[in-house]
Amino acid sequence: MTVRQQASGGAAERAVPILMYHSIAHDPRPATRGLSVAPADFTEQMGILADLGCTPLTTADLAGIWRGGGRPLPDRPVLITFDDGYEGVHRHALPVLAEHGFASTLFVSTGWLRGPYDTGGGLDTMLDWDQVRALAAQGFEIGGHSHTHPQLDQLDAEDLEFELRRCREIVDGELGTAPVSFAYPYGHSDRRVRRAVRAAGFAQSLAVGNALARRRQGPYALRRVTVRRSTGPAEFERLVEGRGIGRQFARDRTLTKGYAVVRRARQARRKATRTRV
Ligand SMILES: [Zn+2]
Repeated sequence: MTVRQQASGGAAERAVPILMYHSIAHDPRPATRGLSVAPADFTEQMGILADLGCTPLTTADLAGIWRGGGRPLPDRPVLITFDDGYEGVHRHALPVLAEHGFASTLFVSTGWLRGPYDTGGGLDTMLDWDQVRALAAQGFEIGGHSHTHPQLDQLDAEDLEFELRRCREIVDGELGTAPVSFAYPYGHSDRRVRRAVRAAGFAQSLAVGNALARRRQGPYALRRVTVRRSTGPAEFERLVEGRGIGRQFARDRTLTKGYAVVRRARQARRKATRTRV
């Protein structure tokens, strides 16, 4: 079933593609390579959204509409989201999005960005706060993605609360507006994490799920689909239309394994840092 056919089934049944990007880079570091998208491919993908007549929304827009904000969903809604806070979002994605007038959301791990709160965890060249402010001024919604990008479901209550509160405080302090949307690092959450995200003041949160987002998933578990370096134009169009997502699933299992390697490396580094301190 295509998005258009689903749309005719009534507002409650409408499925919305939420695209998850990470870095946009010509020459990404190996740790982010599979999940980074080449600038020319990103430009082509935004052209496809324009050709399909899609209307990009921010995360807060979609959640507000689904919460019953009075506004109807536009025809062919889509969300364009970026995780972590890579510098290429400012350098390569911003001009393309501005040209199309497309809304989008950037989820920042505040301890990964360049500047006073940098914990040294960033996997590639990260944004600085002037660049984040420039993105916000261009209409990007700036959401939270924790402070140091841990697997939140593995933290005790105190560390979990710290990761959420610190992230919110820093974004609020730097931008003058507290973030209202969140994206779970590694796409992981459980009921305890979702409750903590809500208690910290976030009104909605995005997971990863190889499926289009639907209202019935609830505001703290909206699914996203992954755009990766290998995603060609035909596959991209299928993702946006919600076709062939099952095929992506097999490859995402491999991706999860890749994440496990990154996680282990980071845990080792954290331990080393603790030892030094
Ligand atoms: Zn992330």
